[in-house]
Amino acid sequence: MTLSNTERKIIENSIRDINDFPKPGIIFKDITTLLNDKEAYGVLMNHLYQRYKTYNLDFIAGIDARGFIFGAALAQMLGVGFVPIRKKGKLPYTTISEKYTLEYGVDEVEIHLDAFRDIKNARVLLIDDLIATGGTANAAATLINKTGALCVEACFIMALSFLEGQKKLQEQTEVYSLIEVH
Ligand code: AMP
Repeated sequence: MTLSNTERKIIENSIRDINDFPKPGIIFKDITTLLNDKEAYGVLMNHLYQRYKTYNLDFIAGIDARGFIFGAALAQMLGVGFVPIRKKGKLPYTTISEKYTLEYGVDEVEIHLDAFRDIKNARVLLIDDLIATGGTANAAATLINKTGALCVEACFIMALSFLEGQKKLQEQTEVYSLIEVH
């Protein structure tokens, strides 16, 4: 189940480019203009529902923070649970964590040890708004698999394909990006 060209255009046109944010040279893909556009948000969520309703998922895991918006909404539509993967220091219970490298320095994401309850080999969809270098998503997928669950696919509204983050991530899970920026 892939996106029609009309649907892709509606979603693409609703995402705003902000030049030089958060620092010079970065084109920030602003999804707040997708969220406040009920047609575009509806087209997106309906597409995600149609694609994933046959995946037999147990949970959706969203990446801090924009992955929470799409992930939590989709989890409710599919009738499955939602799990947040957060930046270090935000989750209150026992966590496992995974470090990843940034252009300058290191960052870390965490998940609750019991996030997927006691479901054996829970089938999990990972979701975020955008994949750039893939560092965050790779660490997040590793965390899911470390809990004993199975990351069946990672889904992104946008992929900055020129950064090749998807390639790296494909080594540990399936990857689906609605819009590719070359
Ligand atoms: P990365 O780990 O390099 O794949 O970066 C992905 C994370 O950073 C995601 O959570 C994105 O929301 C955010 N991000 C990175 N680059 C951009 C960008 N150009 N526009 C919007 N968000 C971005």
